[in-house]
Amino acid sequence: MNNKCAKNGKVIIFSAPSGAGKSTVVNHLLKKFHWLGFSVSATSRELRGTEKNGIDYYFFTTEQFRDKIANNAFIEYEEVYEGRFYGTLKSEVSRLWEEGKIVVFDIDVKGAVNLKQQYGDNALTIFIKPPSLETLKERLVKRGTDSSQSIKTRIEKAMNELSYSDKFDVVLVNDNLQECLASAERITQDFYNNKL
Ligand code: 5GP
Repeated sequence: MNNKCAKNGKVIIFSAPSGAGKSTVVNHLLKKFHWLGFSVSATSRELRGTEKNGIDYYFFTTEQFRDKIANNAFIEYEEVYEGRFYGTLKSEVSRLWEEGKIVVFDIDVKGAVNLKQQYGDNALTIFIKPPSLETLKERLVKRGTDSSQSIKTRIEKAMNELSYSDKFDVVLVNDNLQECLASAERITQDFYNNKL
């Protein structure tokens, strides 16, 4: 087997309540390890802040999203918030595997559990946990990209998401960011080296 294909079929799936620091961890790992490739999800939600189509998400209208569902284009999808769909395109995962990458997902807890069932031992699921709900709320307010109603919705959702943490292979508490990043690096490297 040549080196390009050696890691084919492997995936690392990150989930966390929004504001737990998941994007920071994922972006750090993508910069550090060239053999990781980010799975850009599709969504029917509006573009936010500095986000770019094709980089942060593939932004679809609800109708376009429903068409993709009908055409069986997704490995998994969820209505993460009411009326707002998020999903992983099959084409996105094949593209990254063809490049010889380990695919990194940033998806919700249900999507993560779903993909773990599909990929089994080829999948490593990592839950990033905020130290507390209070800290989570402070982070969301500080981020400044959500309205107070949206923050309330996200906190309510976080309480539900936390109950899924025991279904994950690894739980990382993001209390101290540097320590959390170091643990994420170690775990990712071990998975790459088939030690996990
Ligand atoms: P946001 O609107 O903050 O970008 O994302 C909201 C939630 O949707 C996050 O928990 C994020 O991980 C999740 N999400 C993003 N892409 C996907 C996807 O492809 N599938 C699923 N199931 N959830 C996703």
